[in-house]
Amino acid sequence: MRVLFVFIDGVGYGPAGEQNPVCPEVCPTLCALMDKAPHLDACLGIPGLPQSATGQATLYTGVNAAQVMGRHKEGFPGPTLCKLLQEDNLFIEARRRGLRVCFADAYFADAPEELASRRFKSVTTIMSLTAPETLRFQKDMLAGRAVVHDITRAVLVPKGYTGPLVTPEEAAGHLLTVAAENDLTLFEYFLTDTAGHSQNRERAEGVLRTLDAFLKEVVAGRPDDTLLVVTSDHGNIEDLSTRGHTFNQVPLIAVGPREDEIRAGAASLMDVMPRLLRVLG
Ligand SMILES: [Zn+2]
Repeated sequence: MRVLFVFIDGVGYGPAGEQNPVCPEVCPTLCALMDKAPHLDACLGIPGLPQSATGQATLYTGVNAAQVMGRHKEGFPGPTLCKLLQEDNLFIEARRRGLRVCFADAYFADAPEELASRRFKSVTTIMSLTAPETLRFQKDMLAGRAVVHDITRAVLVPKGYTGPLVTPEEAAGHLLTVAAENDLTLFEYFLTDTAGHSQNRERAEGVLRTLDAFLKEVVAGRPDDTLLVVTSDHGNIEDLSTRGHTFNQVPLIAVGPREDEIRAGAASLMDVMPRLLRVLG
């Protein structure tokens, strides 16, 4: 079986209301998936609002990274989190099992060395650089074998991209193509978090509608042998009344073979990685 892991930054469970754009009118597919999913704690027993660097490092290592740091760390990992991620992570463990692994987001670069020399690197970039063959670049995107982080490629236009834009449905097709060629495929979407920080309802709805059309097609086109897993690192976009993240729980969505093994007993961000490795065998 294969695993397609879609990470969505900053999406939690919040009460319905004008402040919450995560509603069936805006994103029916995501809401239906969230309704059936276990809720994960993102606070990790550490005071303060949960943040991306420690939350994502926890998801991809299974270690409570906030506890390691003694606090929630936002943005880009520093030396301690880098070390944690470089010692062991989901990609390293999957490759140790002889599996083909792919990070399906197309970097706006041509080679791993360009990424390695960047001063600020995200958790997923650091993880992917521990196994550079997992990385995808512009040529892969143009061949329909990678997806740009904003799904439609519009984000590349100001950077000089002159190729075609794609619909969320076409992008979903590209992700499914990648997933069919690998045992573990990761796609990361973080515009939900940036839209949450903007507190702009219109922008948040736009991001959620794009994501929802994409997810709808991924769910519809998912082959029987592929387990789709979707989760987040902390809440944010579900409460536009606050500029920062939230203390809310996040979903652990699983659709496909052995979905029960992903969901059973899952209670925090720490529980994602061990369950993924168990079903990957
Ligand atoms: Zn954020």
